[in-house]
Amino acid sequence: MDYFYSKTQDNDLWLGFKPQYGWVIYDRKLPSNKSAHGEVYWIKCSDWTFFKDKGSNWNYPEYSFVVTYLKDIETNQQKENEEKALSILDEYINKKRNEMDLKYIETIHNNYLEKKGFSPRSVLKATRGRRESGCWECKNTVDNKYDYECSTCRWIICSSCGACKQFGCIERKN
Ligand SMILES: [Zn+2]
Ligand SMILES: [Zn+2]
Repeated sequence: MDYFYSKTQDNDLWLGFKPQYGWVIYDRKLPSNKSAHGEVYWIKCSDWTFFKDKGSNWNYPEYSFVVTYLKDIETNQQKENEEKALSILDEYINKKRNEMDLKYIETIHNNYLEKKGFSPRSVLKATRGRRESGCWECKNTVDNKYDYECSTCRWIICSSCGACKQFGCIERKN
């Protein structure tokens, strides 16, 4: 079981079980998850989608760490579940973590738009080189790894709070 501790720590993430969703991952490398205050984003491993939850809900037994969960279940089910957990962890680290960049930006961007009263938008790989040093909304530094823009206003989307254009997401006129 020790490898669950080292593997999650080395990769800056947390793997656990949530009764409602099954296996879930908290990725500390996601810009929105740097501190577990307010709303943070979790990954539901059964379909590799994101869901948000308050950082303050991150408690046992709503979320139980993989090792704790495996100790809690029936002995005859431990092995099978341990193997499943390990394959999920490997799949995320080796594959999904990179593949989910776009889905992550889409998720936080649409969450931001919804709060501002706008309908969902799609996101595009950034086509222009303009970078901002900080986000107008959350003051976070723009992360070059997540370089996507809003399909409507064409602003680069903040990878931490999902914000696009400052005075509302309105179609850009060329
Ligand atoms: Zn921001
Ligand atoms: Zn926009």
